[in-house]
Amino acid sequence: MRKVLIVGAGQAGLQLALTLREHSYDVTVMSARTPEEIRNGRVTSTQCMFHTALQYERDYGLNLWEAETPKVEGLGLSIAAPDNSRALDWMGPLDRYAQSVDQRVKMAAWLELLEDKGGKVIYHGVTTSDVDSLTKHYDLVLIAAGKGELVQLFDRDPERSPYTSKQRALAVSYVHGAPRRPEHPDTYAVRFNVQPGVGELFVIPGYTFSGPCEIPFFEAIPGGPLDAFSDQPPAAEHWSRMLGLMREHFPWEYERFQHAEVTDGQATLAGGYTPVVRQPVGNLPSGGAVLGMADVVVANDPITGQGSNNASKCAAFYAQSIRERGDRPFDREWMRETFERYWEDARHVTDWTNAMLQPPPEHVMNLFGAAQTNETIRRRFVNGFDDPSDFKKWFLPPDLAEEYLASVS
Ligand SMILES: Cc1cc2nc3c(=O)[nH]c(=O)nc-3n(C[C@H](O)[C@H](O)[C@H](O)COP(=O)(O)OP(=O)(O)OC[C@H]3O[C@@H](n4cnc5c(N)ncnc54)[C@H](O)[C@@H]3O)c2cc1C
Repeated sequence: MRKVLIVGAGQAGLQLALTLREHSYDVTVMSARTPEEIRNGRVTSTQCMFHTALQYERDYGLNLWEAETPKVEGLGLSIAAPDNSRALDWMGPLDRYAQSVDQRVKMAAWLELLEDKGGKVIYHGVTTSDVDSLTKHYDLVLIAAGKGELVQLFDRDPERSPYTSKQRALAVSYVHGAPRRPEHPDTYAVRFNVQPGVGELFVIPGYTFSGPCEIPFFEAIPGGPLDAFSDQPPAAEHWSRMLGLMREHFPWEYERFQHAEVTDGQATLAGGYTPVVRQPVGNLPSGGAVLGMADVVVANDPITGQGSNNASKCAAFYAQSIRERGDRPFDREWMRETFERYWEDARHVTDWTNAMLQPPPEHVMNLFGAAQTNETIRRRFVNGFDDPSDFKKWFLPPDLAEEYLASVS
């Protein structure tokens, strides 16, 4: 039985570990936190996942909260006018629903499930020097430790990383008590609100320990008015500050949320990071090599809500590649090829996400404007969140966008 070590118990590491257990691999996961620590810890994401990623979970029976989690059947866009009314306001239907399960709920339970299925879990924060000594005991070592310090093992790839500083400051709250959305009370949808020059407010229907919730999420342009959480205030103050900023910059969302309250004392998050793509193979002082996965090697800004989707896809690609390798060695060449297979898909997410961090160019505003009255455009844009490779065919290049617009007008 081949022995695989995975460092990091997030979407990527645990999904890969649970997948490999189903195929009888000898799997060990090293997790910095126990299930109890994860349950009692801070929220980590808004983790909205679209059909393809959810299906990878379903394929291995990992969709344990599917029945009770709101089914997100659409995605809406609102762009503020100078007088703070909505210059644009529409919703497009997703062909297949998305869902968001609080990572605290999911990862704590997946860790326990892995142990039930015969996987080994070692609760220990791993240092870079630990990794070096661990490699000789395993056929393959994967680093799935998110954006933590182990990324130091992997060099930045400057050709695939256009940014050298964070593009947004992030602030999230999980809340209860907002009424159903007046625009479409019978449909759960992710709402994407844009205040030009200031930033974005996403609202994601999700599921946490106490049941269904809503997750308002600021993507603040650094130094602007929404970038107001670097002091990491306690949960109640964090939420009241988000509400005040919502009233000023997204009044239509404030109406709905003014009486909502945070779901628990750890339901808020503030931070930010620089989007980056890294070299997939980490070289160790003793001559060994480790393979990076998901956020370790491709960390996009969450403006397009793709990181957990990418983590799920990365786990699925890597599991396939590991199985196809059979008994042959997991050498550097195999590691690079395995990553490039994933990158062939992930590069579309990076290109689109990096573009969405810039002010929308004229051809994008023309598409968004036309989508107000054109269901075909709305549907195509919204379903691109499940398959971002589509955006290069009609949305990103200005000439193709114009051609597309003419063809559907
Ligand atoms: C505010 C915000 C909103 C987001 N919204 C969305 C969204 O709506 N949709 C979406 O798809 N993505 C979203 N993302 C991105 C998504 O959360 C991440 O891309 C995804 O969780 C990455 O998964 P991962 O497994 O690579 O890493 P992580 O989820 O970061 O997991 C890594 C794990 O490794 C552990 N670890 C770290 N260092 C060590 C160590 N040294 N030793 C042992 N363990 C270690 C960590 O504790 C953690 O448990 C969002 C991110 C943020 C910050």
